[in-house]
Amino acid sequence: MIEIPEAESLSRQLIETVGGKKITRVIAGLSPHKFAWYHGDPKDYDALLRGKTIDTAVARGGMVEVRVDGAMLLFSDGVVLRFHVRDEQRPRKHQLLVEFEDDTALSASVQMYGGLWCFKEGGFQNPYYDAARHKPSPLSDEFDGAYFGSLITHPDVQKLSVKAFLATEQRIPGLGNGVLQDILCNARVHPKRQIGTLTNGEREALFHSVKSTLAEMTAQGGRDTTRDLFGEPGGYITKLSQATIDRPCPVCGGTIVKQAYMGGSIYFCGGCQKM
Ligand SMILES: [Zn+2]
Repeated sequence: MIEIPEAESLSRQLIETVGGKKITRVIAGLSPHKFAWYHGDPKDYDALLRGKTIDTAVARGGMVEVRVDGAMLLFSDGVVLRFHVRDEQRPRKHQLLVEFEDDTALSASVQMYGGLWCFKEGGFQNPYYDAARHKPSPLSDEFDGAYFGSLITHPDVQKLSVKAFLATEQRIPGLGNGVLQDILCNARVHPKRQIGTLTNGEREALFHSVKSTLAEMTAQGGRDTTRDLFGEPGGYITKLSQATIDRPCPVCGGTIVKQAYMGGSIYFCGGCQKM
């Protein structure tokens, strides 16, 4: 799934690859998908975008916003974006295909569910998008100790687990269950710890780990468990994930444990992330 590091990396790659390209044709909704969400009628996408030029792309939490001459294309997590060179066969199934005048193309396919919204600038309301645009990204200077402190000392979150606090309710847009595991590994905090029981030192460690882990993942082009615009895995080697379950903890050599928790798997080290 696309989370903050992957959205940043995809946006960079989109700017470098399709920035400045003129759109010659758009096909939306070719392969029916129950959980592919469009804005309005996908048949109108061609009229909205044809003849226009890609200006830039911006990461919004775990979303990728592509600006096209007064119009927008917005992709949520769950959407696989791929660039296709000239003469390369296009995928047989896709939910969106954008063709450019140099015969290259961009395709978007929905895995389980995902949004591929096209709209005129300002013409789309969505709570996830709004939160992602208005809350500071952990990669920005605005997301500082004081800001994190205001989130973690809020009375409403004291009974929440660390996982619920960091990765739900769009408190930190784009921070999901994927990046969460290494953030907590680096902070040495158990995902089920209750916020109200954390020491000042643990809160501090969490803040620094949110900033530094996401920065590291972003600098390396996203996690190795996800793929980029060219179908390549990201350069960040994930410490805790399905792929590393049988390996010792990189911090203390302890055993990595997998558990089902809050509608997803959590991975943690029994040695250095104590309850
Ligand atoms: Zn450990």
